[in-house]
Amino acid sequence: MDGGLSRALSFVDFGEICRGCNVNCCKRFYAVLLPEEEERFRETAFTVSTPVGNVKAIGARDGKPCPYLDSTGRCSIYPSRSFDCMLWPIVLYYDFNTGEKVVYLDLECPAAAAGRIDEGFVERVVELLKSCEIDTEWLKKYTLAPWPNNLKEVARFG
Ligand code: SF4
Repeated sequence: MDGGLSRALSFVDFGEICRGCNVNCCKRFYAVLLPEEEERFRETAFTVSTPVGNVKAIGARDGKPCPYLDSTGRCSIYPSRSFDCMLWPIVLYYDFNTGEKVVYLDLECPAAAAGRIDEGFVERVVELLKSCEIDTEWLKKYTLAPWPNNLKEVARFG
């Protein structure tokens, strides 16, 4: 994985879209860490098992919200949150049938389900992901980490 992927995605800011959201993904879901993020989150990360190996993750667990969520419902580490936190509700997965990488919008996010994520913005993220070197073995594990299956495909590339 490109060590600069998190930095390259630092323009992603869903702050306005997330404001006032009742779902609050940080209370419901976990975020899979890139291998290079594991050391930084060593104290709060937990292991998620997949059929092709384990990944590390942060976020909600056992009904408890992410420890980085503050009392006002905001991420206390927002500028330096993990890659997966930055990107969601955009998700990048591996297609085990074709070997392609597939970009989805996760409709568990009410803003994504309501079509409130700007298409031009999603295209910009897709172009950036296309230009990144992504570790396929890690992507396979990320893809198989258990997740609500409510995804809408928006792009795919080799
Ligand atoms: S690190 Fe921040 S953005 Fe990521 S799940 Fe935790 S509170 Fe949410």
